[in-house]
Amino acid sequence: MYNNDASKFTCNQCGGHELIVTHIWNILAGNDSERWQEWGPLKDNHHWHYEYKEKIEKNADDEVQRGDLGEFEEDDSATEAEDYEIHESETSRESDEFFVNCGNCDREIEFGWSQPDRRGLIFPVEFSDFNPVESWPDPKYADAWQQRGWLQTGHIRP
Ligand SMILES: [Zn+2]
Repeated sequence: MYNNDASKFTCNQCGGHELIVTHIWNILAGNDSERWQEWGPLKDNHHWHYEYKEKIEKNADDEVQRGDLGEFEEDDSATEAEDYEIHESETSRESDEFFVNCGNCDREIEFGWSQPDRRGLIFPVEFSDFNPVESWPDPKYADAWQQRGWLQTGHIRP
């Protein structure tokens, strides 16, 4: 029954089939706080792995950022990304942020999680098998989901 060739996501803007998960977090270093991001593809089985990682420069212009990214991509080519495969307990820090975007046009895609507190698997709203009953919204989408009547009792903490 299951057709392996059919992608679960088709972008309604560009027709792309790839989604990118981005994780942004802060590191406190003395009086400074550093902001980092890592990102990589989300697969149809709701798993993802981060392939790239970079520090987000506060006041850097585009040119500098692009340079950093290039350096990182060179370094990354020699290492396996497997280490990043879903970290169960590390994804629940309050200040961390997660985003899902179309890998082609960068459009933001709403998503939920298979478990509360942003744990488990990622369920993009635009996946063909998306079911809000089985999903916990990422906090930034909780209001929108509530308005649509997607929230089950207990899916939002007071
Ligand atoms: Zn797109």
